[in-house]
Amino acid sequence: MAEAKLIDGKAYAAGLRKRIAAGVEALIAEGGPRPGLATVLIGEDPASQVYVRGKARACETAGITSFEHRLPAGCGTAEVLDLVAALNADDRVDGILVQLPLPSDIDPRRIIGAVDPAKDVDGFHPVNVGRLWTGETGLVPCTPQGVLLLLRDVSNDLSGKKAVVLGRSSIVGRPVTALLLAADCTVTVVHSKTRDPAAICRGADILVAAVGRPAVVGADWVKPGATVIDVGINRTAAPDGAPRLVGDVDFTAAREVAGAITPVPGGVGPMTIAVLLRNTIVAAHRNARIALDKSAI
Ligand code: NAP
Repeated sequence: MAEAKLIDGKAYAAGLRKRIAAGVEALIAEGGPRPGLATVLIGEDPASQVYVRGKARACETAGITSFEHRLPAGCGTAEVLDLVAALNADDRVDGILVQLPLPSDIDPRRIIGAVDPAKDVDGFHPVNVGRLWTGETGLVPCTPQGVLLLLRDVSNDLSGKKAVVLGRSSIVGRPVTALLLAADCTVTVVHSKTRDPAAICRGADILVAAVGRPAVVGADWVKPGATVIDVGINRTAAPDGAPRLVGDVDFTAAREVAGAITPVPGGVGPMTIAVLLRNTIVAAHRNARIALDKSAI
């Protein structure tokens, strides 16, 4: 069989970011405000600092105003809640992103639950989770939405496809499942207690892996011609000891069997920030009561 088509998330995300930048200028031309995204970083976690900086830079290039807020570790839940309340009330802020994970003494559910659902660009507020599962319009988690955008780019008609999602976390597996159901797929979820996951995965037209274990999905888990989306990001070492990022799928082997496949890095990863910007512009349109042609972004 021919090698699978490579799904280039980096290129898709770059195109999406250009369309968002154009969408920002169109919103302003229609008399709307310049969209604003507020990030809240608590503590000194180096990875979180890198992510937040990346998000601020991405905002700037898209013409979205970035408001960066930092609180020290040990600031306490009350101080975070006060900041979130101030951002909820600030008309310049269309989206609020509280960078996770939070220090262990702060309950993320209390903080996420305090964000105005209309500004919840991470899509983690229980109101938006409920809207996703009931098919109402809401803000959808970024990485799962990125998975669906890539799948629709491979084939816009997902109706009736057999999809298997590996992983059932609140941030990836479950929202991906809800989105695939909304796209009329027949969805099976595989998790750590599932018996014979390989056999279940082999029946999938669409296979989404969000497990967090290197190469858990081998070529014998993939149906010939299937579309494989690898969400996993695992830090490993190359044979020479250099740090290396790999996904949950044995990419080299699976590429011989699949019809289309995302690489790691360069697949789902770049989609997350692009969809965060997309959610911010969606929220900005709703907050300004200006209609948005979603097909343009
Ligand atoms: P998570 O919260 O640790 O969830 C992992 C899921 O995988 C759990 O539901 C677990 O099942 C299941 N699982 C574990 N071992 C399994 C096995 N052997 N077979 C089948 N299922 C198994 O992880 P997550 O937050 O969803 O993230 C998953 C991966 O995606 C990670 O590598 C993460 O870095 C990556 N990620 C990437 C992006 C991005 O590209 N921007 C964003 C988010 C996450 P149980 O529920 O039974 O424990």
